[in-house]
Amino acid sequence: MPRALRIIKERAKPPAPVFRLLHPRKPRFQCPICAYRGPFADFEHFAGRRWHAQCPRCGALERHRLQHLALARSLDGRDTKSMRMLHFAPEKFFRRRLSARFGRYETADIGMKDVDHRADIQNLPFPDATYDFVFASHVLEHVPDDRRAIAEIRRVLRPGGMAVLPVPVVCAKTVEYPAPNPRESGHVRAPGVDYFEKYRAVFSRVDVFGSADFPAIHQPFVYEDRTRWPTPDCPLRTPMSGERHSDYVPVCHA
Ligand SMILES: [Zn+2]
Repeated sequence: MPRALRIIKERAKPPAPVFRLLHPRKPRFQCPICAYRGPFADFEHFAGRRWHAQCPRCGALERHRLQHLALARSLDGRDTKSMRMLHFAPEKFFRRRLSARFGRYETADIGMKDVDHRADIQNLPFPDATYDFVFASHVLEHVPDDRRAIAEIRRVLRPGGMAVLPVPVVCAKTVEYPAPNPRESGHVRAPGVDYFEKYRAVFSRVDVFGSADFPAIHQPFVYEDRTRWPTPDCPLRTPMSGERHSDYVPVCHA
């Protein structure tokens, strides 16, 4: 869908109570972030349609709900007010929530203007052991030298620190692209679950939370027809069977 059309559609979204009335037959869920109960909206993106993806009240997508649940579990009992966190490529959705939660909250990105640090994740301008928590969601699938980026994240973590590094797991096995695909927001790979082995090579422990680890009422799965892959926009993705796929949140411990 062209960007302009997508923006118009985005603005035309009805408020949550209206959306609920308009879709009486869609399955009902509960958003763990804003407590909305009712059907979730389908979501169009470059790889096609995802069903039951978006909370019509707070806008959370599947990955936001899953990450919210996994973060709550991982940070349970931790004194986040005494922790210094780095949010890489900060999504608006989490920015406000995380900045309220952590004692020190800093943002970084290679291109975004509204961040504290202009930084390349492959070459971070921070001393060793600077942060207690690093969050970089859907970043590493854009990074050519991701092994270097992962080593950099590990380097800037303090002892006992954590890095949460989700990528879109869209294939059974990771496919590395020869060049960034502009039609896929510049992705340089299509990760599979084997991708997390790259984290295990660097971190002392990696806990991977999957959609099935949380109540299905929160709809943390990705409903998407991947049998039709590859598509003209995603020519190197390999097909997967089924229409309901797990998403993942890897929590890496220094
Ligand atoms: Zn919500």
